[in-house]
Amino acid sequence: MKDQKETDLTCPECGKEHKVIRYERIVGNTQPELKSRLLKNELFRFKCEGCGLELPMIYPCLYQDVEKGYMVWFVPASDKEQLDKIAAFNAESLVDDNYKNLNKQYKLRIAVSVNGFIEKLLILDEDLDDRAVEVQKVMLVSQLGQTGKYRNDKVRGVFFEMVRQDDYGYTVLFQEAGPVSFKLDMEQYYKISLRNRQLFDEHMPEGFCVIQEQWAIERFREIVKDSMSKKGKRRRKA
Ligand SMILES: [Zn+2]
Repeated sequence: MKDQKETDLTCPECGKEHKVIRYERIVGNTQPELKSRLLKNELFRFKCEGCGLELPMIYPCLYQDVEKGYMVWFVPASDKEQLDKIAAFNAESLVDDNYKNLNKQYKLRIAVSVNGFIEKLLILDEDLDDRAVEVQKVMLVSQLGQTGKYRNDKVRGVFFEMVRQDDYGYTVLFQEAGPVSFKLDMEQYYKISLRNRQLFDEHMPEGFCVIQEQWAIERFREIVKDSMSKKGKRRRKA
């Protein structure tokens, strides 16, 4: 796989010709500048030097951090062909010794949106368990839906954010109220992460996989079911 590809792009607004670079593979440890541009969402945007028009420029990109031990493959959700390639790669990695170890050495993730891609990097860079983060997001949405002033608002998305070093939060995007920031409850995060490690491990697909809302909702349901049955048992004992 070639790391960078230069392509021609003509501005649809003013017709100015550009040479743009697509960074299809980035190693964060040796390419800190590219990493920082990625985190600022500069790699997936085209800005015309002639008229200033800005457009999203979406292409698959494999990001790797060899020290932290993770890889995130960004593939736009609409890129069926590329997703098929990853599925094939996963199938191969199960039987090929060269790839088999990847599963052990690396956390392997797929991101299907630019925001989701950046978010994964932020989470894994902080050595946080992205599985616990995703479950905590589901819990937060569930809590917001039950009480408080956002009870009747619809949640359109939740994103992890770095407030500052060791200080994290979630931005919840409400339909009516717009984006609202909530502090990340670290104690709750650790509880989720430590108590459910086995459950999470049991539900990890092999190879590159999407760990997002859908995966987290399923785990959340299992956690709730488990705690209800424990409560039931305690009640019967009493
Ligand atoms: Zn232009």
